[in-house]
Amino acid sequence: MVKQVDNVVLGTLKERLKEIFGYSQFRGEQEVIIQNILLGKNTFVIMPTGAGKSLCYQLPALVTEGMTIVISPLIALMKNQVDQLTAFGINAQFLNSTLTKAEMTRVKNDALDGSLKLLYIAPESLTKEENLEFLKRVKISFVAIDEAHCISEWGHDFRPEYRRIYGIIENIGNLPIIALTATATPKVQQDIRKNLQMEEAETFKSSFNRKNLYYEIRAKKDTKKQLIRYVRNNKGKSGIVYCLSRKTVEEIAELLSVNDVKALPYHAGLDSNTRMANQDAFLNEDVDVIVATIAFGMGIDKPDVRFVIHYDVPKSLEGYYQETGRAGRDGLEGNCLMFYSYDDIQKLEKFNKDKTVTERDNARHLLNEMVAYSTLGVCRRRQLLSYFGEYLDKDCGFCDNCVKPTEKRKVQDEVVLVLRAVHLTEQRFDGEHITDLITATDNQYVRSYEHDKLDVFGKGTELNESREYWISTIRQLVILNYLEKDIENYGILKIGEKGLNYINDPYPVTLYKDHNFEEEEVKVEDDADAASGGSAHAYDEALLGMLKALRKKVAKEKDLPPYVIFQDPSLEEMATTYPTTQQEMAQINGVGMGKVQKFGRQFIDLITRYVEENDIETAKDVVIKSTVNKSKIKIFIIQQVDRKISLDEIADVKNMPLGDIIEEVEHICYSGTKLNLDYYINQVIDKERQQDIYDYFMSAETDNIAAALDEFSGDDVSEEELRLVRIKFLSELAN
Ligand code: ADP
Ligand code: ZN
Repeated sequence: MVKQVDNVVLGTLKERLKEIFGYSQFRGEQEVIIQNILLGKNTFVIMPTGAGKSLCYQLPALVTEGMTIVISPLIALMKNQVDQLTAFGINAQFLNSTLTKAEMTRVKNDALDGSLKLLYIAPESLTKEENLEFLKRVKISFVAIDEAHCISEWGHDFRPEYRRIYGIIENIGNLPIIALTATATPKVQQDIRKNLQMEEAETFKSSFNRKNLYYEIRAKKDTKKQLIRYVRNNKGKSGIVYCLSRKTVEEIAELLSVNDVKALPYHAGLDSNTRMANQDAFLNEDVDVIVATIAFGMGIDKPDVRFVIHYDVPKSLEGYYQETGRAGRDGLEGNCLMFYSYDDIQKLEKFNKDKTVTERDNARHLLNEMVAYSTLGVCRRRQLLSYFGEYLDKDCGFCDNCVKPTEKRKVQDEVVLVLRAVHLTEQRFDGEHITDLITATDNQYVRSYEHDKLDVFGKGTELNESREYWISTIRQLVILNYLEKDIENYGILKIGEKGLNYINDPYPVTLYKDHNFEEEEVKVEDDADAASGGSAHAYDEALLGMLKALRKKVAKEKDLPPYVIFQDPSLEEMATTYPTTQQEMAQINGVGMGKVQKFGRQFIDLITRYVEENDIETAKDVVIKSTVNKSKIKIFIIQQVDRKISLDEIADVKNMPLGDIIEEVEHICYSGTKLNLDYYINQVIDKERQQDIYDYFMSAETDNIAAALDEFSGDDVSEEELRLVRIKFLSELAN
């Protein structure tokens, strides 16, 4: 183990990332995390699904001496990871009960002679005496504990064996530990640290925001029709439909099948062979859609799931977030649709009637959060992140509530009233109580605390009589961070700095009307993919189709899921830059040298033939397709815009000023490629202001920016705003 990360190692980390995995950039905090574990320090990683946890231990495992032990709870997951690493040309293996004696011996020999770099093992196998003896004889660099929340009884997948891991590691030697999980409630975190005796470990917690996921909730009416239409509109894409009961799973799988959708059911009532076969059919893309109970998903790391549908309302937001998180792990399209009806909530409530009082209260509380999330008109992403303790200071522009907002209202006195009520009652009560207080609801609690003597008592009714109105207002104020809600402490409301400042210096705040799903009309027509917007794709669709077909063929031959060969983002890039040599192929994101050698040939041949037959000119590093000169950065921008990533973030990732990114976008548009930037423009420029600028360009003699700046000189309009709207103007009219 390297105790001191010398510069040589660090300097080459990025090179090794490119060479082995084919990625040119680390994502988020991957690099510092890797440095930390390379220094031999215990490391704690909390990242949402799809953020790239595996790389945090895989890359350091490959650049250090010795073998890394990876503890993972599921055999299916291990096989999957090992397949993926093997495809990169890495010696990784697993040790579990499915191996024959001979296979087991081979794995052990590889470990002892030092050629094995990563050994995946389940905690059950780890505790076996013979394995322990063997591991003591191997040179080990560090231990990675995946799905570390399994240690905690407070987590959703408690596994008693996980609690024994630390003792065993200690027995093998004094090894650094990297623990990774996507579940991060404080209680679970604390359990993990304590149990692994790594209280001092540095924690790397990344934002839980999954920017490429589009969240949408529709009324549960005409649901079957809506579902079929939606799935048909997403023909050929992989998707999961979650249902509450086995019966519904069977019924919906059947319904989709008779409507020409390749779909199979998955639930715990099927015998294990059928279950495995159906899961494999989904992974191998023999079927597009899996209809499942929540039994399906853990341990499935298929990166290209394009939609997750909740046919029934889930029991908690934790569950919902985990399940929707399975969409778009590769960073490309991921649509999350839920059908909502209050009937479902009542059904779920009935399930709880035999539980203890505490369990029932807890379950009801979770359901209330679900109702709030579904019905509030506020940006869904802001709601979700707020629930997980993160505050987002802007609407995301990429959820149904942002795209099709409900009625808005500007309020001020209402906000002051609520904040004052919380303040006067010493920040010790929840939203229900505050509502009771300001609507003068007669109850014993209000009276017993003498809250009926406060000046805010009953003041709310003068402004609005409806109780729901106040509940909704309070909830929205929490999401907007005027109030803070202590979830672990009975939902008690507190006032943070923002709220205190507000009381002293109030201003109008925009709130949204709740959805009324009973009344909302459903449109079964073609609105299924509001998410996939209007902008034209940058890639060559015909070629992409051929590449996907080839991938499937190769996958079949090798008996691997297609995404193990190449992932979708890599194929899309190939269909944009037309690599025809090994060197060019190695430049594609996600294609390391190992993959070029293993699978490159056939793909290069296909592209070469395609390029010849279609007279596509490719210049060394730059590809000329039609008139657009799509250099790397341009391609990157086009892809990111396609995914509705904000320009600020693109600038961030590329480490370029925003102005330069806008300039690249201008080049792209001037050379005739249509880009739809509405999602971003709507986020950063007020609608009315956009209209003013747009109208100006419409009537102006020239689209010159200096002239425009001159025109708007009194209005505090920035050059960037003008240029953004000009892009919109040009894309809509000129192209
Ligand atoms: P998690 O375990 O956190 O759910 P994974 O490790 O499965 O996430 O990674 C999710 C996806 O991100 C995978 O498709 C992986 O190939 C990709 N990925 C990871 N790191 C990078 C990177 N630095 N650049 C590009 N893609 C990456
Ligand atoms: Zn939003």
